[in-house]
Amino acid sequence: MRTEASPDYLNNHITKEMEEQFNISGDLLSQAIENADGVPYQLTFGTGVGDGSFMNVGFGVKQLFGISPEEFTEMLFQQMIEEIIPGSEDIPVDPVETREKIISGAIRKYKAELLVKTPGGEKKWIRDCSIPVIDDKTGKATGLLGIFFDISEHKLTLLELGRALDRATESDRLKTAFLNNIPHEIRTPLNAIVGFSTLVNEPGQLMQSRLEFQEIITHSSDHLLEIVDDVVEISKIEAKVIRIINKEVNLNQMLQRVYDRFKPDAAEKNILLRYDAPMDEKEIIITTDGYKLFQSLNNLLSNAVKFTFEGKVEFGYTFKEDKIEFYVSDTGIGIGVEHQPNIFKPFYQAESSSTKRYEGTGLGLSIAKAYIELLGGEIWFTSEPGKGSVFCFNIPGPGKNSNRPRYSL
Ligand code: ADP
Repeated sequence: MRTEASPDYLNNHITKEMEEQFNISGDLLSQAIENADGVPYQLTFGTGVGDGSFMNVGFGVKQLFGISPEEFTEMLFQQMIEEIIPGSEDIPVDPVETREKIISGAIRKYKAELLVKTPGGEKKWIRDCSIPVIDDKTGKATGLLGIFFDISEHKLTLLELGRALDRATESDRLKTAFLNNIPHEIRTPLNAIVGFSTLVNEPGQLMQSRLEFQEIITHSSDHLLEIVDDVVEISKIEAKVIRIINKEVNLNQMLQRVYDRFKPDAAEKNILLRYDAPMDEKEIIITTDGYKLFQSLNNLLSNAVKFTFEGKVEFGYTFKEDKIEFYVSDTGIGIGVEHQPNIFKPFYQAESSSTKRYEGTGLGLSIAKAYIELLGGEIWFTSEPGKGSVFCFNIPGPGKNSNRPRYSL
């Protein structure tokens, strides 16, 4: 037998003397490897992956996997592996495929990072580097000579660095999006308030005009307040200081309130607005944070009405297993696939700021998502450009501890 890295004179005629010399240098090499915190091993292949046997395994395996060298079998090792990240493109993730490629000689240097769960339940990242041991007669690999390194600390540092980078990138994106979007969003209602406040006091204005100006001022002030509220709310969400205040909520009354709020906007755009509550229950009382549930529905409805120009907007809820599932569907402009992964991110809008036609801060969906998750639910959607969107979310329903609904028929 020879290893791929062995010099050729060792391949065929190994004299007793050479073998002894090799064993001595092999021992020394093992010691040197262990000194460098590696665990050397030799694996002889069996009939399949897991059937092989380890030999000359370094003592460090005890510290690495909590197993003594004698207990360390290939079967146990394969069972411990939870994830494999190949070190090069020619190495497959699948161990069987890898083994076939090693045996045939297609892989001459194996390198991979493995996530393993030791028999003691500890998770560790290791680097496994090996070279095949080739049988001279067949030219095929019969085993591996390799080294395990514990890279858990290194992996953890990388993971933390990655997270820190993500946080920094996200906070940079938020700052840029905030600076690009909010001044523009605030200026519009503020200009209206300043302009119409001057006009309303001008002598000679008709009563009717004064009333109209006042209405614009009220609407703009409300809109301004909403923007400020959303910005404050998203800051609280980011800072994780939002608390849930559970109270009894009458669901059908809430749907009616949402309907009343959006009916005038829908009527103005000539689109149908309707809601659907379960037919057989007049009153459904659940215990949840009513404000957050209302705001979530409100934000979804606000988008549905805003982005729909013909057809209808429908909303409602149904009971699904132990959850209550809400939906808001529209026949509006829909959301392009390229935007779909991002629309729950704060300040994200499908429209670019230069061609912006719709009012909005890009905060409605991120606030709704955060609220729904705080209520113990999930939000998702399907959408097709030109056809419309359906947003759904659920919250714990019957049978779920404090949010257990009470039905009054
Ligand atoms: P905005 O204040 O811009 O509506 P949101 O966070 O509520 O902010 O929504 C983010 C973006 O997702 C919107 O700007 C829009 O591009 C897209 N979007 C959300 N809901 C819909 C919908 N029902 N139809 C089409 N696009 C939508």
